[in-house]
Amino acid sequence: MSRESTDVFAQPIRFLKRVGSVRAEALEAAGMTTCYDLLQYFPRRHLDRSNTSLINEALGSSSPVTIIGVVRACGVTGFKKSKRFEAIVEDERGDRVSCVWFQRTKWIASVFNPGDRVALHGRVRLYRRSPSMSHPDFDKLDTSGPSLETGRIVSLYHGSATFDRVGLSSRVFRRIIFDLIKERGLGFPEVLPQWILDEHGLIDGRVALRAIHFPKNRDELAEARRRLVFEELFFIQLLMARTRQSRSVEPAARFDPPGFQTTRFLGNLPFDLTAGQRRVLAEIAHDTQTGVQMNRLLQGDVGSGKTIVAVAAMLQAVDSGFQAAFLAPTEILAEQHYTNLRDYFDFLDVSMRLLTGGQKAAHRREVLHDIASGGARIVVGTHALIQEGVVFNRLGVAVVDEQHRFGVMQRANLFRKGENPHILMMTATPIPRSLAMTLYGDLDVSIMREMPANRKPVVTEIYREKRREEAYKKLEGELRNGRQAYVVYPLVSESEKLDLKDAMTGLDTIRDRFPDYRVELVHGRMSSAEKDDAMSRFKAGTVHILVATTVIEVGVDVANASVMIIEHAERFGLSQLHQLRGRVGRGAEQSYCFLMASHKQTEEGRLRLEAMEQTTDGFRIAEADLRLRGAGDFFGTRQSGLAELRIADLVADVDILAQAREAAQKLVRMDPDLADPHHAVLSEFFERFYAERYLGFAKVG
Ligand code: ADP
Ligand code: MG
Repeated sequence: MSRESTDVFAQPIRFLKRVGSVRAEALEAAGMTTCYDLLQYFPRRHLDRSNTSLINEALGSSSPVTIIGVVRACGVTGFKKSKRFEAIVEDERGDRVSCVWFQRTKWIASVFNPGDRVALHGRVRLYRRSPSMSHPDFDKLDTSGPSLETGRIVSLYHGSATFDRVGLSSRVFRRIIFDLIKERGLGFPEVLPQWILDEHGLIDGRVALRAIHFPKNRDELAEARRRLVFEELFFIQLLMARTRQSRSVEPAARFDPPGFQTTRFLGNLPFDLTAGQRRVLAEIAHDTQTGVQMNRLLQGDVGSGKTIVAVAAMLQAVDSGFQAAFLAPTEILAEQHYTNLRDYFDFLDVSMRLLTGGQKAAHRREVLHDIASGGARIVVGTHALIQEGVVFNRLGVAVVDEQHRFGVMQRANLFRKGENPHILMMTATPIPRSLAMTLYGDLDVSIMREMPANRKPVVTEIYREKRREEAYKKLEGELRNGRQAYVVYPLVSESEKLDLKDAMTGLDTIRDRFPDYRVELVHGRMSSAEKDDAMSRFKAGTVHILVATTVIEVGVDVANASVMIIEHAERFGLSQLHQLRGRVGRGAEQSYCFLMASHKQTEEGRLRLEAMEQTTDGFRIAEADLRLRGAGDFFGTRQSGLAELRIADLVADVDILAQAREAAQKLVRMDPDLADPHHAVLSEFFERFYAERYLGFAKVG
């Protein structure tokens, strides 16, 4: 790409007509500094006037609709928790709908005025017998109706308080972008090579950009969108493919085929491995013998038996003369793994050490010495393991349990230990295929879908407060059969103290209701020694009911526990509920999970609980979670980098994603360094717009 053409991407925004320094500043704060950025500011939605609805018609429809009307009255009502902004909107037939917003009321109040013409998008329901919409998406329309709005399909852009203050409405965005295209044209080159356009039937990038802002009709809009989604996903996949490619040239520990200890360990298990476990073990054995660093993510639901796989991988390292590290997200889990592993190893000759933050200095020094000298062959620990000052003698493999609980930086640190140790990350949070391809596109992914044969799905039921006693009766029945129970409280309110009070009140209630049984409480404010004591009494069976805040969330293993009551279940996220439920149903007996739900739950809360009732398959739960929350929230923005997606929707666009991935992989196979002159524009564009933007999360998997 020549210098001049490059500069087209860099033309500053602030000299555009209608922009000026105040608006330019607002745009810059939102990440737009160049004309190209502005063109990449894709409409949030398109208002298709051939597709709007009257309030009356909309009442029968269960899907979202667009309604156009005039604001007749509006204002803030209610106090404290019930404080809300309400607007009465009247459509052209004179029917009225009442719209309420409980969040961002201040901003919305500053935007709405009586007499405004607005487009509302959402579901219309009957509330106290009148049509109502809660939290509809909205746009102010022009009352004057200038030219750019008379088309059938009109672009609507994201609003914000800042944009509003400087008058950057959708109408103004349309004007600015229209003039930009008219006056300066789209003078930059096509970034995708012709062969990709041909193979995937994509339209020209410049045509697509114009059409996404000013579509002539629905077909053109659909083609434009497909092209731009493809482009966005393609460059992310290219980054993944390149990261993977660059790793494959770094030398790494070369393990021998599974040796003495590994074989003995597997041969002595009291059960048969599942097909999934056998498959993944073979994958790991293969990876670790190639001399290229393994970067594998093992996804397997709670209880699918990931630990066995991890242990076999570590023993393979030991058999080959290397050390192995096993990282758990909390001290409880690290200690539990350590104890379990000691049981597994009691007939093997493997020296193992535990390293956690809570250990005494003298003890710690000893452990560190063993790690550095190589005396410790397997080291189990928390994040303390990856702090500065922990030096391994010859680390061959690092297993990261519950990897999603570790921050990106923590994982990055781990990767620096030793000389490219093989990495096995494990997660019990199954990730939908589309997200896995994006977040972990540079890793090999193994999936264990099957559960050990003796497992029965946990019977899950939603209970309202008035049926609480029924849940208690069932719990009592289990206790009478010698089983144990969990009662779990969420940590949700602003103050940890209040939450704790909630759990403590719960403790009293349970003690009163079950006077013949021993009940104890564990919570996050206890020292780890106190927690451990309580947990080990529960594990030993001297405590029958464990009341807990979510400290038991991950990995805690008490096979005799067969009931769990989750209080305020509607306040938990889906993956958390799923994790919690995984604490029961770990033995061969039937287990139960009772979700106590309040009447005050949101629509989304209700859907979450229903999903829990309907399935125990973690992958289906993850897909439901993704649908309910959207990709940006699925992992939390900082960790995923997905909040940066401009146009692609990882739920709706999974097919385009697969195509983009295929194209990116093909490109890297053909031209790993992007040196072919046909790829020059692509290469420069990639370096400039993608390499850095996604570097953070791609590097560390
Ligand atoms: P997770 O995948 O949640 O980490 P674990 O590895 O802790 O699961 O295994 C859960 C329980 O299942 C453990 O008690 C383990 O001994 C047992 N287990 C693992 N694999 C099998 C199998 N193939 N058959 C029967 N039980 C198994
Ligand atoms: Mg586990």
